[in-house]
Amino acid sequence: MKVALIGAELEENLGLRYMASALEAAGHEALILPFNEEADLSRVVRAVQTERPDIAGLSMVFTGRAREFCRLAQALRAGGFAGHLTAGGHFAALNARQLLADFPAFDSIALGEGEELICALAEHLADLSPVPGFCYRTATGDIALNPGKGNPENLDALPFPRRTSFHEYFGQPIASILSSRGCWRECAFCSIDAWYRSGGGRKFRIRSIENIVAEMSSLYHEHGIRIFNFQDDNFFLPDPAQALARFQALRAGLRAAGVEKIAIAVKARPDSINRDALEVLDDLGIFRVFLGVENASQRGLDNLNRKNTVAQIENALRILNDYDLHVAYNLLMFEPDTNMEDIRINLRFMERHVDNPFNFCRAEAYAYTGLEKKLRDDGILAGDYFGFDYRIKDARVECFHKLANYAFFDRNFSDYGLHYFNMEVDFSYLLLRRFFPEKLSEELRAEVRCFIKQTNIDTYRHLCRIYDLAQAIDPEDRRAVNEAMRSLRQSVDEHGIALRAQGERILARLQAAHDGQAAPLPKPAEYGEQSLAALLDGLLIRSGEEQDESFDFATDGAFNFFGALKRPIPYDQFKNRLDNNR
Ligand code: SF4
Repeated sequence: MKVALIGAELEENLGLRYMASALEAAGHEALILPFNEEADLSRVVRAVQTERPDIAGLSMVFTGRAREFCRLAQALRAGGFAGHLTAGGHFAALNARQLLADFPAFDSIALGEGEELICALAEHLADLSPVPGFCYRTATGDIALNPGKGNPENLDALPFPRRTSFHEYFGQPIASILSSRGCWRECAFCSIDAWYRSGGGRKFRIRSIENIVAEMSSLYHEHGIRIFNFQDDNFFLPDPAQALARFQALRAGLRAAGVEKIAIAVKARPDSINRDALEVLDDLGIFRVFLGVENASQRGLDNLNRKNTVAQIENALRILNDYDLHVAYNLLMFEPDTNMEDIRINLRFMERHVDNPFNFCRAEAYAYTGLEKKLRDDGILAGDYFGFDYRIKDARVECFHKLANYAFFDRNFSDYGLHYFNMEVDFSYLLLRRFFPEKLSEELRAEVRCFIKQTNIDTYRHLCRIYDLAQAIDPEDRRAVNEAMRSLRQSVDEHGIALRAQGERILARLQAAHDGQAAPLPKPAEYGEQSLAALLDGLLIRSGEEQDESFDFATDGAFNFFGALKRPIPYDQFKNRLDNNR
C-alpha cells in the first residue's frame, strides 16, 4: 500500500515520521507531504494526483487549522482522489462523528496514536469493521465507531521516527524527540489530556533510557544533531526522585555513547522543578524551559485544575532563573470565573517577572475537556466544534478581555508577534552562549536582557491601563469600549514596531557575533541620557493613561531594522510548538 501522510511540517512532525517508519516496517510505502498553510493546498492536491496513494491521512491536531484541513479533504476529492481518506490527531479524534457527518470527503477518523492504526487501516482497507480505534463510514453510509484498544504501552517497540532533513540554529542542527507520551495531569483546558484519555490505555508512558540514548546517539553521530528539542508535554516524571534518577541515567548513557556538548530544550510544569534535577539537566546542556505557569492567581489555578500552587510557580522561576536559562511561559489569564482581583494578581506577577519572555491569552474550550463540560453545564458555551466561545461571567473582566484581546491581537497571536519575537531574541542569545560563549560580550547580554524587560514592561503598562479603563468604563457602553479598543491597539502596535526594530538589531548583532564579524559598536546615543531615562522610566511601573506621554522607546532611524534585515533564525518553528502546547 502507498500512504500519503499530510500535515504541518514547520518543524519535524514526529507524529507523521513515527507513522512513516511504522508503515515502512510493515512493508508499505509512506510519503510525507507538508501542509503548513492554506496556500499549500493546491500543491498537496497536485502531489496526491501525481503519487496516487491508496490512503491519504491528514494530521488534524489543532482546532485553529481544522477548517483548512477540511477544505483540503474536499479539494482532494474534487481533484480526483478516490482512495481512502482518513484523519487523525487531537481535533479529528475528539470530533470524529461530527466530522464524518459534516464532511463526506472523509472515510474514517483514527481515534488514538497513529502507528498501529495506520498499519491496521492499510491491512483492512476493504472492511474496517474488525479494526479497533476507528470511527468510519460503512458501506451503507452509516457512521460506525469501533472503540480503541488503547494507545501502545511499550514505546520502545516503536521504530524510531523517519528522519530526513534538519533545521539549524547558528549552524547547529536541531532534532525533535520524545522521551515520553501523554501527561499525568488533567488540566481543565487541555486537549492533550482529553485526547490521551479518549485513546484508552495508560495516559502517560515513558521510553527506556537505553531506547532514548540509542536514538539520540544515532541523531548525534549519523546526522550531526547538536540541539535536542524534547517535545514531551512535561519532561519530568510525577515522582521527583524517579525523575532525578532518570536524568542521571540519561546523562550517564549519553556520556557512554559519546554524545557531548549538546543543548536540550524541554517543557515542564512548575511543580516538577527542583534544584537537584536542574543540576543534572544543566550538566546535560539544558538551555531552554517552557514553563507551564498558566495563571498566577491560586483561584485561577484551581479553576483550571492545575493542581499546583503559586508558591511552586515562584519557586520554579527562582530556580530556573538561577541557572540563567531561556525560560518562557504562558498565562491563561482569563477563564470563565476570572474576577478583577485575579487579573490584578496576574499583573503583579508580570511585574515581578519582567526578566522572562511570556505571552497571555484566554483558556479556550476544546472538545471533551473539563472546561468545555463546565461551560456546557453552565449554559454559556457558544460556537461550534471548530471554535467554541464563551463570555466571562464578570462583565468587567469580559470587558478587560475584549480590550486586551483586540489591543494585543498581533502581539500575542500573529506569526511575527512581539511576544514570540521576545522569546526568539532570548532563545538566540542563550543558544549562542551554550555553543559559543567566547563570541559574546557582556554588552550584548545587557542588550538582550534590556530588550526582554522593555517588551514585558510595555505589555504590562498597557495591561495596567486596560485595568484602569475596565474599572472606569461602563462595560455595556459599546461605543466607549470600541473607542478604547481602537486607541489601545494603536498604542500597542506603535510601541511594538519600535520594540521589534530594537530586537531585529540585536538579532543582527548576535548573528554577526556568531559569524565572527565585528558586531557594530553601539552608538553613543544608545547609552545616552535619553535612552537610559527611557529604560528607567520603563522600570518604574505605574498605571494610568498619562504614562504614554513619557514612554520613549528609541525610534532613531539607526534602530529601525524592521523588515530590513533577514531574520537569521527561524524561531517560528519553536513558536508553533508554544502556540499549541495544550
Ligand atoms: S496542560 Fe500540560 S500539565 Fe496540564 S494536562 Fe495538559 S499537558 Fe498535562
